[in-house]
Amino acid sequence: MPNVKFFSGENIPLEMHKVRMVQRVYLNPIEERANSIKEAGYNTFLLRNRDIFLDMLTDSGVNAMSENQYASMLQADDSYAGSETYYRLESVLQDMFNMQYFLPAHQGRACEHIIAKLLVTPGSTAVMNYHFTTTKAHICMVGGEIEEIIIDEGLQISSELPFKGNLDIEKLKASIARLGKDKICFVRIEAGTNLVGGQPVSMDNMREVSKICRAEGLTLVYDASLLSDNLYFIKTRDPNFKDTDIREITREIGSMMDIIYFSARKLGAARGGGILTSNNEMFMKMREMIPLYEGFLTYGGMSVREMEAMAIGLQESMDMDIISQTPIFVEVLCKELLAKGVPVVTPPGGLGCHVDARQFCEHIPQEKYPAGALAAAFYLCSGVRGMERGTLSEQRNPDGSETLAHMELLRLAFPKRVFTLSQVKYVADRLTWLYENRKLIGGLTFEEEPRVLRFFFGRLKPLTNWPDELLKKFRADFGESL
Ligand SMILES: *Cc1c(COP(=O)(O)O)cnc(C)c1O
Repeated sequence: MPNVKFFSGENIPLEMHKVRMVQRVYLNPIEERANSIKEAGYNTFLLRNRDIFLDMLTDSGVNAMSENQYASMLQADDSYAGSETYYRLESVLQDMFNMQYFLPAHQGRACEHIIAKLLVTPGSTAVMNYHFTTTKAHICMVGGEIEEIIIDEGLQISSELPFKGNLDIEKLKASIARLGKDKICFVRIEAGTNLVGGQPVSMDNMREVSKICRAEGLTLVYDASLLSDNLYFIKTRDPNFKDTDIREITREIGSMMDIIYFSARKLGAARGGGILTSNNEMFMKMREMIPLYEGFLTYGGMSVREMEAMAIGLQESMDMDIISQTPIFVEVLCKELLAKGVPVVTPPGGLGCHVDARQFCEHIPQEKYPAGALAAAFYLCSGVRGMERGTLSEQRNPDGSETLAHMELLRLAFPKRVFTLSQVKYVADRLTWLYENRKLIGGLTFEEEPRVLRFFFGRLKPLTNWPDELLKKFRADFGESL
């Protein structure tokens, strides 16, 4: 998606694809939206898609597929064991990451389950730039702990640092010295660090971490779910890689890691996931678990159609014109919001625009879930569904107290190649309105709180009747308009 110079003098990002199939969406009146969010327990995960105008909850499994991906699904080779589809996918992945073995799994967290069972022992620690919700849950489930060693700036909302997802090398050395390498089950690098604003990791940083892990005999695991955005940033933010083909960059990343896993719901714009390694011993151990938890080795819980689409999608993700729409739209949205004073994570990352709910709702304490309240309020005033990424997404401590998140974010994710520029402008406009009226937003409290991954299906209620007040103000300002 190149920026093209217009006659007007503006540089405007231009889509390098055309839309050949569309889905009708509806923008319900705010009164209906008020009912919908109430019925959803003020948790955007519990909204029904029919009540949503733009679904910016996640990019997971909702990216637009290409005509070639759809076409490939027709040639899927249906077979429980030994499907040609599997061998096509395997060879694409082996070539892409320059790794020897591939194990299929039905999605990213399924890979995390297998890897946690392979590497984590009770009392051990996984050291990583930052956790992802399902990653942490799987490590903790088998008795492990996590330690986060992202550079300090990674947790600051505003910054100019191009690679805010980097691991702090000094912190890594300190963790090794303090814990002892026998207590570290693995070191994990997450591409495009999800929970802190889709921030990338630099090649230099990965090289250095890899060198240390090799020297210490530590296993290095790479979560490549958000690799596309990270590759875009390596190309555009690191002058050393400006002219390097992203295929070459990806193969170099492969050469640094012991295990790579990914969610194909993100990487490759399909469904499914998988694990790669060149380590025969690890491969043999993981191979035993795949049929137990996922499915036979040549499908791993995926349909052959999904696997064909994934094989094509993965190859297409090695093209800058294809992977650039999300980071460019994120940048456009962030810039429009910043111009109006709305606090967002900078520099703009991949995945989506991340609004800083702590500043946005500075009058709401963290225990009253400012990011969750902001997500509910934004749906109410726009029909746009975002996701809370803050204290609600954390788990309570064993004593029942809250784990206060480092950041309180409203994430507005961009499914790949799904939205248009005018829709991005609508999001910016309604969010700016909400910012002007932010004092009307109030806190939330749990009505029903699940013990694990509570953000997925917990139900909440507003502490005051603030949604009504917001609705009234919206009607006063927008009249009959949607
Ligand atoms: C989405 C995601 C996962 C989990 O993948 P699923 O396919 O949703 O299970 C793991 N890691 C990261 C960084 C992700 O963004």
